[in-house]
Amino acid sequence: MQTPVMRLYAALSRLPLFKSYRSKIMLVAFLGTHVPLLTLLFWFLLSQNVASSEMIRVLLIALVATLVGTLATLMVLNALLRPILVSSRALRGFLKDRSKVALPTHFTDEAGTLMADTTVTLNRLRESMEQMENFDPQTGLPNRSLFVSRLQRTMDEASESDTFALVLVELSRLAEWNVTYGNRAVAEALKYAGSSLEKRMSDRGLVARMNESTFALQIPDFGSRREDALMAEDPGQMFSEPFRIPGGSESLHIESRTAVALFPGDGRSAEELMTNASAALHDTRNSAQSGARFYSREMQHRIEKRISLEQSMRKALRDGEFRVYLQPRLDLKRNEVLSAEALIRWVRPDGLVSPADFIPVAESNGFIHDLGRWILKDSFRILKSWIRVAPASQKDEVKISVNFSPHQFWGKMDWVLEELGNADLPGFRLEVEVTESVFLSPSDSLNENMSMFQKAGLSIALDDFGTGYSSLSYLRDFPVDRIKIDRSFIHALPEDGSGSAIVGSVIDLAGALNIATTAEGVETAEQLSFLRQHACDEIQGFFFARPMPEADFLEFVQVAG
Ligand code: C2E
Ligand code: MG
Ligand code: MG
Repeated sequence: MQTPVMRLYAALSRLPLFKSYRSKIMLVAFLGTHVPLLTLLFWFLLSQNVASSEMIRVLLIALVATLVGTLATLMVLNALLRPILVSSRALRGFLKDRSKVALPTHFTDEAGTLMADTTVTLNRLRESMEQMENFDPQTGLPNRSLFVSRLQRTMDEASESDTFALVLVELSRLAEWNVTYGNRAVAEALKYAGSSLEKRMSDRGLVARMNESTFALQIPDFGSRREDALMAEDPGQMFSEPFRIPGGSESLHIESRTAVALFPGDGRSAEELMTNASAALHDTRNSAQSGARFYSREMQHRIEKRISLEQSMRKALRDGEFRVYLQPRLDLKRNEVLSAEALIRWVRPDGLVSPADFIPVAESNGFIHDLGRWILKDSFRILKSWIRVAPASQKDEVKISVNFSPHQFWGKMDWVLEELGNADLPGFRLEVEVTESVFLSPSDSLNENMSMFQKAGLSIALDDFGTGYSSLSYLRDFPVDRIKIDRSFIHALPEDGSGSAIVGSVIDLAGALNIATTAEGVETAEQLSFLRQHACDEIQGFFFARPMPEADFLEFVQVAG
């Protein structure tokens, strides 16, 4: 539509005294009635030769009469202008605070339809804006902001004895489905999950969609019904039915993680309760637990500690707070130290942090890749010093064993050979230690890395053998050179009959497959003599030597050598 021309209106708008629309109409009405009337009267009196005093009198009477008449007209005009004025006010009010509009809607002329259309349009606009702001378009459920404000209201109105649970349900595989089946599958999964949760809640509490993959439930009096216990123990059954991808034949099963925070114990405000439930949900990512995770103060501390670890680890690498310690291993046939395990230590100004605490964190945030490369480089540096000081008979044999995380094996590992090359070391100098859990997720990368290492002459050791869940078939399928029997088996030797039988048969089995054995965690002379008797190849443990810093290690191997 073209901008209409409004010359007279624009000209009148320039007059400082006539800013309002009403005053413009009044001015025009006043001038429109007075100017022609008074002109006519003036002309008439002049042409009649009336005495000037008479003329003034007549003019005054005429003026008063027209003024009274005009005043009455103006009042009527003012009333007739109301539809325009109230429509304008309604629009202003809507823009300011989106206030509800209630103008008459039954008049049918232009001013009447202006009021009716203003009312209908603004009210519809308000509804759609509210819908957009408070509801999730994909599932039709309330969104985070509406949920949080309703949650807060429930908390504000709660009596002393009122309790409820805030349950967060996160769907696990949406990103993967998006890649494999496209976003229609994800949209369907969200719709299905939303309606399942809504059905389950019926009108007991609130359901909302919080973000991409998370839903929230507010369940009053949680625990009072049997289904609550079921939800806590096995939240997966909420989505027990598979759903079908539109237009496809595939049926998918929803997998989810669930966390619970309770009111009033776990939070006094909606935001606090949400934060704590999210912390519990975050915690489910690092556990294989199938039930819902309940928030607890202890968990909060664990998460805070973890976040602070994550933040300080990178800085620690730059500041040189990591050290490679070495634990010598004793070859039982030759009674010599021919290998040592590199074990990382984090020496912080406020004390030592155990690798058991920071390696899992480094694995989950990807820092293990930078750290792992540094460990390997530093291990090679120490190995070269060892080769320099080793007795002549051992110089060509000594090797170092370095731990790798399964996460590293699941990615490319060419860098290991690169670092060997940079250090100018042949492959046999490095033994790669990895736990059996690496076989839990078979992948092309795993196979490629294993055979690449084998070709390059590295040896592969299975760490903590006996503690994993996987089958023994990998001993046949993968090029494993050594198994390290976990210290939990060695610990019970030799008194525990069944423990001794397990260790004995593992050594025999390995021997039959041409795989070397190392016993980990050897702490007593009795354990050592048992292992000797059973022809174990090598021992590692506090009884023989503890993990030690580089200087002590180089001294130790010279004395022991
Ligand atoms: P692991 O590879 O099984 O290392 C052996 C662990 O047993 C070491 O603990 C060592 O100090 C300890 N140990 C050795 N002898 C004895 C003994 O006689 N008795 C007892 N009770 N313990 C003994 P540490 O150094 O705390 O390392 C723990 C785990 O952290 C390692 O287990 C390994 O899985 C991981 N780790 C250590 N360094 C690295 C690393 O550089 N990279 C990676 N990815 N993981 C590492
Ligand atoms: Mg190890
Ligand atoms: Mg071990």
